[in-house]
Formats: sequence, C-alpha cells, structure tokens
Amino acid sequence: MSCIFCDIREKKVPAEIVYEDEDIMAFRDADPRAPVHILIIPKKHILSLSEIDEEDRELIGRICRVAARIARQESIARSGFRLVVNSGPDAGQAVDHLHFHLLGGRSMSWPPG
Ligand code: 5GP
Ligand code: ZN
Repeated sequence: MSCIFCDIREKKVPAEIVYEDEDIMAFRDADPRAPVHILIIPKKHILSLSEIDEEDRELIGRICRVAARIARQESIARSGFRLVVNSGPDAGQAVDHLHFHLLGGRSMSWPPG
C-alpha cells in the first residue's frame, strides 16, 4: 500500500523537514493554509487518530511537545497557533497516515468550516 507520508519519511519524496527524531517527523505542508503550516507525523504508519491505542500514549504526548517546540522555533508560540487533527471523512482527512497540522502566523476563526 502506497502512502505519501511514508514516502516522505523514507525520503523518497522531498519535503522541507523542520524536525526529525527516531519516532517523529515534521515538514512543511505542500499547500500551506497559513504563514506557518507544518505537518507533524509519527514515523509509524497509523491510519488516523481513531486508530491509536494505549501503546501510542507516549508517542502522542511527545508529538504535542514537538509541536510546542516547533511553534517556538517558528516564533508563533506567543502570537498563538492551532494544532489540528482531521480524522475521517467528515473532517476531510485526505492522507491516511496520522498527522497533526500546526498552523499559525495569522489570526484564525472559530469554529473551523
Ligand atoms: P488532511 O486533509 O489529510 O488533514 O491533510 C493532508 C495535508 O497533507 C494537506 O494539508 C496537504 O496539503 C498535505 N500534503 C498532501 N500531500 C503532500 C505532500 O506530498 N507533501 C507535503 N509536504 N504535504 C502534502
Ligand atoms: Zn504512511
């Protein structure tokens, strides 16, 4: 099964990587919806947020810490940012590899459309 984010993880598809460790990778979205739009993924292929289980608890916590760290790096920690997960069809999930959108650099409306 082909997966674009697994291909980015394997560096078969280029991306502007802003963070990487053993278990997590973050790269700029190809179609940014805000001045800062970064995708943070677990390297492990998890289909969606609804597929996580107990053994992923630490991984998900670490992804949140990575998001805060990148927000500081990108100078949006003070101005504010949004961390978004689209899970399933109603949320418009287009890539079936769990990813967190880190969005910032402009004010955002609520609720999202
Ligand atoms: P979703 O709608 O699944 O929550 O978000 C998928 C995101 O992945 C979209 O914002 C889209 O722009 C981004 N994306 C899709 N393909 C690629 C790609 O090949 N490279 C990068 N950097 N982003 C991608
Ligand atoms: Zn994948």
